[in-house]
Amino acid sequence: MSSTTTAPIVPSYVQGGWWTPQDAQGSSVRDAATGEEIARVSADGLDVGAVIEHARTVGHPALARMTLHERALVCKQLAQYLETRRDELYDISFRTGATMRDNMIDVDGGIGVLYTMSSKGRRELPNANVVIDGPVEVLSRDGSFLGEHVLTPLPGVMVQINAFNFPLWGMLEKFAPALVAGVPSIVKPAPQTGYVAEACVRMMLESGLVPEGALQLVSGDAVDLLSHLDYRDALAFTGSATTAHALRENPRVREGGVRLISEADSLNAAILGPDATPDTPEFAAFVTSVMVEITAKAGQKCTAIRRVIVPRDRVEDVARAVREKIDQKIVLGDPRADGTTMGALVSLEQLDSVRSGVQRLIDAGARPHGSLEAPEVLRADGSRGVVEDGAFMSPVVLTFDDADADLVHSLEAFGPVTCVIGYSDLDDAVRLAARGAGSLVATVCTNDPDVARTLVTGIAGHHGRVLTLNREDAKTSTGHGSPVPHLVHGGPGRAGGGEELGGVRAIKHLMQRTAIQGSPAMLTAITGVWHKGAPKQAAGCERFGGSPEHVHPFRKALTELRVGDALVSDLREVSLEEISAFATETGDTFYAHTNEEAAAANPFFPGIVAHGYLLVSWAAGLFVNPDPGPVLANYGLDQLRFLTPVAAGDAIRVELVAKRITPRVTDEYGEVAWDTTLYNQNDEIVATYDVLTLVAKEWPTPSVG
Ligand code: NAP
Repeated sequence: MSSTTTAPIVPSYVQGGWWTPQDAQGSSVRDAATGEEIARVSADGLDVGAVIEHARTVGHPALARMTLHERALVCKQLAQYLETRRDELYDISFRTGATMRDNMIDVDGGIGVLYTMSSKGRRELPNANVVIDGPVEVLSRDGSFLGEHVLTPLPGVMVQINAFNFPLWGMLEKFAPALVAGVPSIVKPAPQTGYVAEACVRMMLESGLVPEGALQLVSGDAVDLLSHLDYRDALAFTGSATTAHALRENPRVREGGVRLISEADSLNAAILGPDATPDTPEFAAFVTSVMVEITAKAGQKCTAIRRVIVPRDRVEDVARAVREKIDQKIVLGDPRADGTTMGALVSLEQLDSVRSGVQRLIDAGARPHGSLEAPEVLRADGSRGVVEDGAFMSPVVLTFDDADADLVHSLEAFGPVTCVIGYSDLDDAVRLAARGAGSLVATVCTNDPDVARTLVTGIAGHHGRVLTLNREDAKTSTGHGSPVPHLVHGGPGRAGGGEELGGVRAIKHLMQRTAIQGSPAMLTAITGVWHKGAPKQAAGCERFGGSPEHVHPFRKALTELRVGDALVSDLREVSLEEISAFATETGDTFYAHTNEEAAAANPFFPGIVAHGYLLVSWAAGLFVNPDPGPVLANYGLDQLRFLTPVAAGDAIRVELVAKRITPRVTDEYGEVAWDTTLYNQNDEIVATYDVLTLVAKEWPTPSVG
């Protein structure tokens, strides 16, 4: 092994500048494939209290000055920037033992999370800093007292402790939702690969996009950091179950109210259905999936398939097929060598730990398909041979006669290792999968819907995610091991009990849910969203509260429009001829609109009634302003409900109130949701819905006018 100690210490980025300890030796970090020392790690002497304070006093206010959409846009711009520097990140990552395929998961996957959080944040959350969570509850008879839940950014910081295996994805999947939520991040990467995280943080800062204090990096250990956290803060941990346990016992978590989000290790299962015999496409897809999962990232994936659960008579078939697939597809070597498909483990220490895990499994009764000997590998220069200082290991498939051997269900050998065990029937398969005591993900591979239902509903409560694999999705599936930002990542029990990602859930996790109560006017003022019963300024028919002083709200651009700007129409009579004509023209001749006797026999109708869609169309005719103006388009209706039938001879009128105004940060227009109510001549509510429109920010405007 190289003995040089001249490698630089990985710097931390704190309080707006780069920092390196003065006299520390630090622990050595080596290139996974060659053993060359490439960095040292230490944060000895760092004033961590000041780091937290900087996030609280500089980062938090800087983020609070922006809206959710503005922060989400920064996320996208960061993704675009990192894309331009992706090759540099690949080059650095090769040193961790990661191949190009591994880099796509870590680098591209991390950038992908930034894009997804940005897009979902801007589409699904308001352009504000208060998010309404769920419907309004009317708490008094007259509607003057309401309650609802709102989300606001956590008032503290988010300390992110990451595992070594995905230094970029692991960091960015936490940073992106924190940024959008408005919570400053303090990133603590794992020492083995912290130099990759440091390179990425440096790039992000060089982009000039990161708000001041929103991102700090501590390239050392995190213990001191935790002692400065309190109930305002979140601690997001990814790593082993042992460390997760230690963190749960940390006094700041146990007694100080720090929110712990824990993503720990997991003995993920893949179950082969009884229908998936060796001649089926499911069997082939299953074998490929197991092969991919134990060789991607050299098996150092929290989501890797550790337990392969198959019909008892297929244990050897599956193990042999996986082994053959590995032999066909896997070329072990330096990630920089052309042709390498599986790289090294992250370090020699990790290699020792995985080998000793495999030995323990063998001692517990496993038959190994594969060798623990140091393998011959492809070197960077294209030659082949054993690299003594490289952390290389051949994939190992272990089979067990005893499916209940305890170690199969409790020992995570965090490398290219998997165990194949047999089940007797579907209940047994469910029972065995559950022995993982809570896992991140499982695959159920079957083409039989009944088997899929039995297995998935049986194991779902023990898992954070379940993939069903069959011939239809084998090619299109994102795979067992890939968390996608749209869906939840995390699992119960041993997997940590945390939940990350899951679209905007990830952002909401970093916001405090508060029940607020008050009058409609107060809730409108607090949330920026108009609540029924709050004051409105109505243009239109004076008989129903409109005033000629008010401008039709469709004539107002976003810069002028205010929530509560409204329009009230006059009544419009409904005739049988119009109902009949609508039925004829549209072909909707449902008996309630065409047959008096049959309609009257229906429990809901007095006789022939107008079509709901006819009423909605008439309502548009009552509220529309016909001339070109700031309202650019109608893009849909939300929450449409028909409440009172309208018969010939009745009349309807409409009230339309600007409820939610969402200017886009990327365009010269935004969305306006209009609270819309149809009444009949007796002031009974006929229908309620939100009309959704796109409205120009300025009118007239050269770009859209
Ligand atoms: P680890 O040893 O638990 O370390 C994870 C992180 O925790 C490192 O940054 C480590 O840094 C820090 N740490 C360790 N002890 C700590 C303590 N007492 N207080 C505060 N921080 C502490 O895990 P690893 O070896 O890096 O990663 C591999 C493991 O992570 C595997 O078990 C894998 O299954 C799991 N993993 C889970 C997920 C998931 O999403 N569920 C994802 C990836 C990996 P220091 O060493 O500097 O303290």
